[in-house]
Amino acid sequence: MRVLLVEDDTMIGESLRKGLRGEGFAVDWVQDGHDAERALELTEYALVLLDLGLPKKDGLVVLRGWRQRGITVPVLVLTARDSVPDRVKGLDSGADDYLVKPFDLTELLARMRALLRRQAGRARDLIEIGALRLDPVARTVEYRGQAIPLSAREFALLNALLETPDAVLSREQLEDRLYGWGEEVESNAIEVHVHNVRRKLNARLILTVRGVGYRLGDAS
Ligand code: CA
Repeated sequence: MRVLLVEDDTMIGESLRKGLRGEGFAVDWVQDGHDAERALELTEYALVLLDLGLPKKDGLVVLRGWRQRGITVPVLVLTARDSVPDRVKGLDSGADDYLVKPFDLTELLARMRALLRRQAGRARDLIEIGALRLDPVARTVEYRGQAIPLSAREFALLNALLETPDAVLSREQLEDRLYGWGEEVESNAIEVHVHNVRRKLNARLILTVRGVGYRLGDAS
């Protein structure tokens, strides 16, 4: 799952990027309001983490612009502005949630999950299809009642396919979900992850749609 992190504080940005990558998110990090706007024009994100006090363009102005243009990506505002009027202004500008610095990574992750769930229209975290159960919170996969150990990328691949079980996802779309900017992607990386997931679960679980991409297959 790919997220955009907008944060001009280098120390906070670096530690958040590291923490989120450790949880299996693909993270693109930008440090000012202009780059935030550009990133959202170029790439599709599952979620945006937005600091408000930013160089070049204030976070609230950036956010209002997105909402005026009908961009509905969930936005979680991260800021030191913790007075009630500031919070109200943030939510009125189109933020989906608000976290005051300093905060705990575990709380940030819980709020991110809640927003992603709301966006997907799911009340619960668990995704169940056929004999397959994927828990995005615990980051576990069970198949036919057995726990299946997957790497962070294999998990992200399976998660992407399970979220849109009827869609065919191209290799480029999957790379976008699994990797952030500046992360080295071998040309056959997706094929390798697909191969590993098939090997660990079932050879027919992921179908290759020739010339197009991959979709979920037989999960029974
Ligand atoms: Ca700032």
